[in-house]
Amino acid sequence: MPTESAETLPKTLPGVVCAQWRKCGKAGCRCARGDLHGPYFARFWRQGGRLRKAYVRKADVKDVRGRCQARRQAQAECVAAMNQVREMSSFLKVMESS
Ligand SMILES: [Zn+2]
Repeated sequence: MPTESAETLPKTLPGVVCAQWRKCGKAGCRCARGDLHGPYFARFWRQGGRLRKAYVRKADVKDVRGRCQARRQAQAECVAAMNQVREMSSFLKVMESS
């Protein structure tokens, strides 16, 4: 596990932080009965036309979310951000159903 602290992160970050619930795939595990593991947090953003993903530690979620929000405000990209969120949620649905 990387030990970098939140202080090393830039002040603003692109993208959105999403909570994810996972199935581990083990037969007989609680997740097989719908009691999924999580939440795991990840930040999704676009870079060079590609969707990038970085896991966010639970302790950093509030901080990283704030930085994403700061980026959106700084760039006044409310509409773009909303489109991005919509894109992300359809992307996540695809991932969950695979
Ligand atoms: Zn499981």
